[in-house]
Amino acid sequence: NRGLDIRNLTVEYQGGQAALKSVDLFLPEHSIYTILGPSGCGKSTLLRSIAGLVKTYHGEISYNGKALPEQDQVLIGLVPQNYGLLPWKTVQSNIRTAMRISNSGTLTKQQQEQRITNWLESMGIADLAHRYPLSLSGGQQQRVAIARAFAISPQIMLLDEPFSALDAITREEIQRIFLGNWNSLPTTTLFVTHDVEEAILLGEKIIMMTSNKEDPLIVMDNPLFSI
Ligand code: ADP
Ligand code: ADP
Repeated sequence: NRGLDIRNLTVEYQGGQAALKSVDLFLPEHSIYTILGPSGCGKSTLLRSIAGLVKTYHGEISYNGKALPEQDQVLIGLVPQNYGLLPWKTVQSNIRTAMRISNSGTLTKQQQEQRITNWLESMGIADLAHRYPLSLSGGQQQRVAIARAFAISPQIMLLDEPFSALDAITREEIQRIFLGNWNSLPTTTLFVTHDVEEAILLGEKIIMMTSNKEDPLIVMDNPLFSI
């Protein structure tokens, strides 16, 4: 079964209770699942665990049979809630750095620069290429973070409320751009949102995450999904 396979995932932060307890989830390759759930139920922890940012957890996370995060040949794009941009680098340098770290190494320098330009254009922020993150609005930083995640052509894309800082009109526009681009990439996507409409628009399946550790995930089909 090809896809992202999470088995029996348990995360306990130091001195705390379990943030996640025995979570099982399977996302087939090139699927997009949205997650809805109350604040504090463990959505970010789930994404961060998949991204390799949680140091100690119990359970197994694998992609197409390869264990994560030890297996560094699986590229993961993460759009964290706080955008995660490096403040001392310009917008384009942030993206360039991510591409270098993720070793988009088969590209020539020129192709790399072209890809950066294309993604910035696609997100409507080409004019911000030389700006520094802290001089940008939240919504602009969010678009940089999305451009950066797409630019590395990840197999797995993890988005933690990626459109939360956008005004309603920009959000609709970016949702549309996101869907168009998502469809052209072989990317398996987990998308956290607080917005029920967004969950229905973007989710092939919708995961309701609860604070009940005995039964944390309810995965529902979305008959309205139409990408
Ligand atoms: P959500 O994204 O659904 O709001 P989180 O994954 O951020 O939930 O948090 C799940 C639980 O883990 C919460 O109880 C939160 O307080 C706790 N938690 C999150 N991050 C940390 C941390 N770095 N240290 C200790 N506890 C944490
Ligand atoms: P730093 O993080 O040290 O500022 P960058 O990420 O900006 O470095 O640049 C990484 C590499 O890309 C460097 O080798 C740099 O020479 C090259 N580079 C920087 N800007 C451009 C550009 N506009 N076009 C092509 N290559 C560039």
